[in-house]
Amino acid sequence: MFNEIDCNMNSNLQFSKVQFPNEKRVATGYAPIALEIRRDIVKMLTLAKSGHTGGPMGLADFMAVLYFGKFMKYSANEPQMPDRDRFVLSGGHLVPVLYSCLARAGFFEPDELSTLRKFGSRLQGHPGLDTELPGLETSSGSLGQGISIAVGMAMADKLVDHNDRKVFCLTGDGELEEGAVWEAAMAAANFKLDNLCWIVDNNDCQIDGRVRDVMSIYPLAEKFEAFGCNVIEIDGHNFEQIVNALDKFEQNNKNKSGKPTVIILKTFMGQGVSFMQDKYSWHGIPPTEEQAEMALQELK
Ligand SMILES: [Mg+2]
Repeated sequence: MFNEIDCNMNSNLQFSKVQFPNEKRVATGYAPIALEIRRDIVKMLTLAKSGHTGGPMGLADFMAVLYFGKFMKYSANEPQMPDRDRFVLSGGHLVPVLYSCLARAGFFEPDELSTLRKFGSRLQGHPGLDTELPGLETSSGSLGQGISIAVGMAMADKLVDHNDRKVFCLTGDGELEEGAVWEAAMAAANFKLDNLCWIVDNNDCQIDGRVRDVMSIYPLAEKFEAFGCNVIEIDGHNFEQIVNALDKFEQNNKNKSGKPTVIILKTFMGQGVSFMQDKYSWHGIPPTEEQAEMALQELK
């Protein structure tokens, strides 16, 4: 059990008990959820003493809407509910933001967030189905593969089972340098997967530099359009734009447009904490306890 795992719990880094229902909200209603998620990420990474801080912080706003705005059908009490929608985190290293959402949605107790990356924990540094953590749909982390899994799920739903399930998949932008990603884009359009919502976290940062400097993926919207996708480009920190983009995907799906939807989120790595914001050096490091204290001061 997780409470047997040594987490060196510092009292400043304890997790609140709050949970959030999955319901329609006004755009401003997501701010307290995103704040709680960011606080979770800072605490989890500080306790883990290793892992990825910047990317998850940049995704807190989008994930707050996706998990708590009734855009995705799921049940924390019945994680394997047959008609649930599915979320695949192709950029598996971004998983702290997903663990926080799952805990806040009630899939497991928020206290378990303190076990991130600990030996024996269900919350490994990349999502692993072998941990049997409720709410995970697949293992991921080898970049470029999760989106192919998501395309396969969407194909099975639309072409074989003919059901109404939706598949959401999130990739990073550095991840788009993987060739397999473009095979997935070709297949998604070819098989007219209007039940697929592909989200790209476009923070223009990757492990050791700017995406545009390491291997440019631009122009990005035009690339996805050329593949035959319905592309929506938004500010990934603007709740109203996020809600509208997910509404458009729902319409695209309901109207059977025959096109997959791609939402390009313009985000900042490390969003919410001044000394992390837009710094790719925060891709793969945790805060120190002192930095965590400063970060949590800002996240109030
Ligand atoms: Mg990136």
